[in-house]
Amino acid sequence: MSRYRLYPTADQAMVMAEHCGHARYVWNLAAEQQSWWNPRRGPAPSYIEQNRQLTEARRAFDWLATGSVIVQQQALRDFSTAMANFFRGTHRKPRFRKRGRGEGFRIVAVKPSDVRQINRRWSEVRIPEVGWVRFRRSRTVPDAKSYRITVDRAGRWQVGFAAVPEPILAPGTGEVVGVDRGVAVSAALSTGDLLSCPGPRSPEQARLLRWQRRLARAQRGSVRRARIARVKARGVGRRKDWVERTSTDLARRFDVIRVEDLRVKNMTRSARGTVEAPGRNVRQKAGLNRAILAAGWGQLVQRLEQKSPGQVEEIPAALTSRRCSACGHGAAGSRESQARFRCVACGHTANADVNAAMNIAAGRAVTARGGAGLPVPVNREPQHSTPPLLVGV
Ligand SMILES: [Zn+2]
Repeated sequence: MSRYRLYPTADQAMVMAEHCGHARYVWNLAAEQQSWWNPRRGPAPSYIEQNRQLTEARRAFDWLATGSVIVQQQALRDFSTAMANFFRGTHRKPRFRKRGRGEGFRIVAVKPSDVRQINRRWSEVRIPEVGWVRFRRSRTVPDAKSYRITVDRAGRWQVGFAAVPEPILAPGTGEVVGVDRGVAVSAALSTGDLLSCPGPRSPEQARLLRWQRRLARAQRGSVRRARIARVKARGVGRRKDWVERTSTDLARRFDVIRVEDLRVKNMTRSARGTVEAPGRNVRQKAGLNRAILAAGWGQLVQRLEQKSPGQVEEIPAALTSRRCSACGHGAAGSRESQARFRCVACGHTANADVNAAMNIAAGRAVTARGGAGLPVPVNREPQHSTPPLLVGV
């Protein structure tokens, strides 16, 4: 996101403030419906249904009808994206928006003609119902597909352009890689590579935990909060950098990138270990690490999808961690520990996350029903002739 300071006239700012209010109203309406619905009442209204309700609301309320339908619909769409991200396990549940906090609205389907340069320093962006609004071009404006207008509490307006990265040309070798969201590391590749997304460094982490424990007593806007924010921001920067490098590297090296469907994964696994092989003594730091891993993983998949459009496949796999990538045997006992996999049928040993990544690369896994009797990779017979020692143990 590249941000620029916007300089609307007083009249323009008034309309933009109304847009913010409408976007917030529509978002909160959607959030309220979501919180009211529960599984017994059936699914929450979809975007289409909410859009129909919006049309009705616009008929009923003049103040809403005078606003931009583009802004209001987009708020609904953003909410439904936020819910989808929540279900994927990559983001927090969308919350109510408060007046004056994080105010803004988003415009998508932006054409190159919606942004124009006036002179060396200034450009303009076209905003629905507002017209051309000037912004300071502090650096090159990316070729954006959408932008978000925000206003801070001091009344300063900003426009942020979401740059869609250029797709990276695949190598054309037909090579497939499986990427597994690891427990101990951030991601494991079927090639055997273990990737770890940088979190806070150890001393930083210890400090962060100490500070966070004391935070309950801290005042809003206190020095402590500021310190925590600073350390966290450093971690965010390092993580972003890692996501960029890793996604580019994978997009360049492989034609097909297979990842596990997170909706399934979420139910079977957490940073505390797997359901089959729960970790021990990991409660400390687990919360912090879990959040970092989850965020890093979500960003990595998102970036991969942008850099290799059409080449990322989500494998609807469950229990990839208990299937042997060599012989196909699936058994809970094969997962020796968080880190080690040792097949109870053929004795094949591997790093547990790499083994799971290889199953993902092959596009298959043990189903919830399954155990033994699973498809064995065609060209790979079990690599032993004597019965493995571990059978029946
Ligand atoms: Zn095996």
